Amino acid sequence: MNHCKVADVQLYINGEFVDATTEEQKENRNPYTNDITNRTTMATAADVELAVDAAEKAFHEGPWGKMKLKERMSYIERIADLIDEEAEDIALLESLDSGLPISQTKKMAARAAENFRFYSRMVQARLHGDAYPVDQDFINYTIYQPLGVVGLITPWNAPFMLTTWKVAPALASGNTVVLKPAELSPLSANRLAEIIQRAGVPAGVFNVVHGYGEVAGEALVKNAKVKAISFTGETTTGKEIIRNAADSLKKTSMELGGKSPLIVFDDADMEQALDAAVWGIFSFNGERCTANSRVFLQQGIKEKFIEKLKERVDQIVIGDPMDTKTELGPLIDRGHYNKVTNYIKIAKEEGCTVYQGTVPADHKAGNFVPPTLLLDATNEMKVCQDEIFGPIMAVIGFDTEEEVIQMANDVEYGLAGYVWTNDIKRGHRVAQAIDSGMLWINAQNVRDLRIPFGGMKASGIGREGGHFALLEFYTEPKAIHVAIGNHAIPQFGK
Ligand code: NAD
Repeated sequence: MNHCKVADVQLYINGEFVDATTEEQKENRNPYTNDITNRTTMATAADVELAVDAAEKAFHEGPWGKMKLKERMSYIERIADLIDEEAEDIALLESLDSGLPISQTKKMAARAAENFRFYSRMVQARLHGDAYPVDQDFINYTIYQPLGVVGLITPWNAPFMLTTWKVAPALASGNTVVLKPAELSPLSANRLAEIIQRAGVPAGVFNVVHGYGEVAGEALVKNAKVKAISFTGETTTGKEIIRNAADSLKKTSMELGGKSPLIVFDDADMEQALDAAVWGIFSFNGERCTANSRVFLQQGIKEKFIEKLKERVDQIVIGDPMDTKTELGPLIDRGHYNKVTNYIKIAKEEGCTVYQGTVPADHKAGNFVPPTLLLDATNEMKVCQDEIFGPIMAVIGFDTEEEVIQMANDVEYGLAGYVWTNDIKRGHRVAQAIDSGMLWINAQNVRDLRIPFGGMKASGIGREGGHFALLEFYTEPKAIHVAIGNHAIPQFGK
């Protein structure tokens, strides 16, 4: 599989796979070999308009929005079943495209199916309004209605799982969708389109436009018929999208970058904290938004913890993403490899001691960055402030609770945070003091799909996940006021 080519990637518009209206194609390379895997047709603004028009027609004229809830949910559950049936194949495709280890993409494929099942349950349980009786005079109530066409723009890290995390609530709540996947990982988006087609979802309800962000992405954001944009990606891109969405006053949801702290106090369970710290930065090849890229160690355990970190780094299995034993694969592409490698150079210039694992000689063709510890780091260094998005952990010492809270918050981002201590009061205190959207105490990044997912500061605006995605983003609340008694209407001009 790793050296194979796969079919070229087309757009999916109005229920059909089609080429873009230009000849332009982008080469898609395998991160492990840097060979060409396939070519992707790149949408123009005109292609995006065709997709949006198809989605709009499907919303206003097709059966999707008017369908009985049970029937719509049967499509959503059918999609989940088909993902489960094809999970092995989806995982292979995803590892081929992204370089993520197959043991991890298998779990993501299972989670993708669960995303659809979860939102089928969630829509049936929670997509309802409230009633506001006013004495015997009024009964006021709210209903939540789908927005219409929504645009979903996704990144290349964990593409299939992240895409389904948006597509599932968007479709389950009755919207129609135009998806713009990342240029660097086009394959699994088309597999999702094939599955949705096979599930019998009406034409136009789900569309995929591959293309460059500044062309296809921008056209989607600027299109006035698109009612909302849900975006996951870099903070700078998010700012540009908000600017471009302003003219048509659309709703936006921003899931952006992170530089999350993991704090280990002297009294923590060291082995568990180590497991969590190592998994949290080195899984997903370090290309993880909630990665603990800054690890703060209290002075009492610092040296011992670092010794053990080094041992763990030496043991991480680096290799072919298709090998089930591989724990760390190659980065997505050469450009990202160069960016991450440059940060290691900067770390040395800033005074860090760099400790790394070793990439086996027979894997040199891939975009491998070994697992890396930046020791003797201080929080104000560039490598502790910028999101590097690779397998790089900066290790920073601290003395007191106040000092570590101050450092944890002294960063542009606020996505996640992890606190390790056996002092339960301190655990809560520190978690509540950290300016991040999501905190874990004595746990790694275990997801509860019901919770609000997202960040504060430069890590995002708004929350997805749970009922938040449904009630706060993918639907519009409508208030209906009904007079049921006699109420005095002001006499005016009589
Ligand atoms: P990116 O911002 O470069 O690209 C994301 C998507 O935006 C791509 O589809 C791209 O084509 C598109 N895009 C680029 N310019 C655009 C424009 N002007 N208009 C519209 N669309 C445009 O991000 P990336 O490098 O693909 O992904 C990595 C980033 O994503 C990291 O910063 C990571 O932290 C973040 N991320 C955040 C979360 C979260 O939930 N907070 C989850 C995963 C990844």
